[in-house]
Amino acid sequence: MSVQLVWFKRDLRIDDHRPLAEASRRGPVLPLYVIEPEYWREPDTSRRQQDFIAECLADLHHGLERLGQGLLLECGEMIEVLDRLHQRWRFEAIHAHEETGNDWTFRRDVAVRAWCKRAGIAFHEYPQFGVVRALSGRDGWSRQWEAFMAEPAAPLPGTLTRLLETQLRSDPFSAAPAHGQLDCAGRQRGGIQAGSEVLNSFLDCRAVVYRGGISSPLSAETAGSRLSPHIAYGSLSLRRIVQRTRERRAHARSVDDKRLAGSLNHFDQRLHWHCHFIQKLEQRPDIEFQNVHRGFDGMREDDFKPELFQAWSQGRTGYPLVDACMRFLTHHGWLNFRMRAMLMSFAAYHLWLHWREPALHLARLFTDYEPGIHYNQCQMQSGTTGINTLRIYNPVKQARDQDPDTVFVRRWIPELAKVPAQRCFEPWKLGLAEREQCGAGDYPQPVVDHQEAARQARMRIGEYRRQPGFRAEAQEVQRRLGSRRRQPSKGKRREAVAQSRLF
Ligand SMILES: Cc1cc2nc3c(=O)[nH]c(=O)nc-3n(C[C@H](O)[C@H](O)[C@H](O)COP(=O)(O)OP(=O)(O)OC[C@H]3O[C@@H](n4cnc5c(N)ncnc54)[C@H](O)[C@@H]3O)c2cc1C
Repeated sequence: MSVQLVWFKRDLRIDDHRPLAEASRRGPVLPLYVIEPEYWREPDTSRRQQDFIAECLADLHHGLERLGQGLLLECGEMIEVLDRLHQRWRFEAIHAHEETGNDWTFRRDVAVRAWCKRAGIAFHEYPQFGVVRALSGRDGWSRQWEAFMAEPAAPLPGTLTRLLETQLRSDPFSAAPAHGQLDCAGRQRGGIQAGSEVLNSFLDCRAVVYRGGISSPLSAETAGSRLSPHIAYGSLSLRRIVQRTRERRAHARSVDDKRLAGSLNHFDQRLHWHCHFIQKLEQRPDIEFQNVHRGFDGMREDDFKPELFQAWSQGRTGYPLVDACMRFLTHHGWLNFRMRAMLMSFAAYHLWLHWREPALHLARLFTDYEPGIHYNQCQMQSGTTGINTLRIYNPVKQARDQDPDTVFVRRWIPELAKVPAQRCFEPWKLGLAEREQCGAGDYPQPVVDHQEAARQARMRIGEYRRQPGFRAEAQEVQRRLGSRRRQPSKGKRREAVAQSRLF
C-alpha cells in the first residue's frame, strides 16, 4: 500500500486542490496539517490568524471526512512530525502546493526537501497561483498567469480510502501561542462554507458598487469583495474566483450592465495584482527585511522613535482618520486598501519610521496577512521601491474625501463624538475650553505637524533619489520585478507626480 501524504498549508480546501487530486490517483491519501509552534513565535503572526485557520481546518476536516479520510492534525516541528509519521505509514510521496511565505517557511520548506531526499521520498509541489518559480525577469509573465487561470480546476477525488480515525480539537492552537495576542471581536469567519458565501454574495449582489465603493472605509466594508483571508489561507481557489468573476462579467456584458461589468474589470485586475506582488517576494525573498531599492539603505534605520510608533500603533497620533483606521483594523482584522496605504504612508513619511516595525504590526493585525503582498505594499507606501510614484497621503484631506459626514471618525473615536463637524478632522484647532466642553480632552494633540513632516520626508527621499547610481538600480528593479503593463508617457508621468501631492 503506497500511502501518499498530502500536506496542507495555505490551501485549506478540497476544491481545485491539485496535490489532493494527484495524490488520490496514486494511492491511499493521508491528509496532514501541522501546527508548528516555532512558526507561531515569529513576529508577523497572531491569534486572529490562528482563529481564522482553526475555522478553515474544521471545514476542511469535514470535507475530507465526507470523502472518506479526515484530516490528521499534528503539532510539532515539521521534520520530527515527518519522521514519526513515516515510521508508521512508510509513505511513498509528499504532495503540497508551492508556498511563497516568509523567510521562516522558506527555510522550513528547504528542510523538508532535504528530509525527503534523505528518506528517498518524492516531494511533488504544484503551483496554486499564477506565481512562477525560478523566474529571472517579468517578460511574458502575464501570459503565464492567464494560462494558469484558464486551466480547468483540479478534479475532486471520488472517495478516499480510510486509513485512520481522526478528530480535531476545539482549540487546535492551544499548544502554539502566536506572537500577537490582541483581541479581534469583529474578525471575519474562516472556512470553506464562509468563503463561498462571501464569494456568492459579492458576485450576486455587492460587486455592482465595487468600483467607486472601495476607497472609503465606510462603504468598502461591504463594497469590497472581502475575500482576502479566504485567498490568503486558500479556503477558496483563486482560479475559481477568477473564472467565476469572468463568467459573471460576460453575463453582465451580455445584458449591457456596464456598471457591473466595469466593477468586475476592476476586481479582476486586483486578482492579477495578488500574484504580481507575491511573484516579487518569490524572486526577491530579501524584501521581507531589506529595502527593494538598496540605495535607500541607511535612510531611516537610525531614526526610529518608539514613542511615535506607539502612538501610531495604538491609534493615538492626534490625526482622527489615522487613529480611527487603526482602531477599526484592530477590532476587525481588516481594512480597505486605501486606508491601509494611508496608515503605512503616515508611519513612513510623517513619523519617519523605518517600514519594518510598522509592517510587522500591521501583519499581526491583518487576518489576511499575505507576506508577498504585504512587504511589497509596505515598501511601496514607504517610498523604498525606487520604481513607484511617491504617495504621501494627507490625513486631513483623506478624512474630508472618504468620510465627509464624519461618521467613521466619530464611530471609532468616541472622544470626538461631540466635536462640531468642521473641527472633527482637525481637533487641534479647538480652543482649550471648547475642547473640554466637547469631551475631547482625552484625545491627543497631533504628534507631528503633518504638512511640515510631509515636506521634510519628500525632501529627504529626493536626496537619496539623486545619488549617483540610483537610476541604474531602479532600472534593474523594474526589469526584475516591475509590471509590464504599458508605461505612461513622460507627460502623463509628470501629471501623476503632480497628482501624488494631492493624496
Ligand atoms: C500596506 C498594505 C499592506 C497590505 N497587506 C496585505 C496582506 O497582507 N494581505 C492581502 O491580502 N492584502 C494586503 N494588501 C492589499 C489590499 O489592501 C487587500 O488585499 C484588500 O484590502 C483586501 O480586501 P478585499 O478582499 O475586500 O479586496 P478586494 O479589493 O476585493 O480585492 C480582491 C483580492 O485581490 C487582492 N488584492 C487587492 N488589492 C491588492 C493589492 N493592492 N495588491 C495585491 N493584491 C491585492 C487580494 O487578494 C484581495 O483579496 C495590503 C495593502 C497595503 C496598502
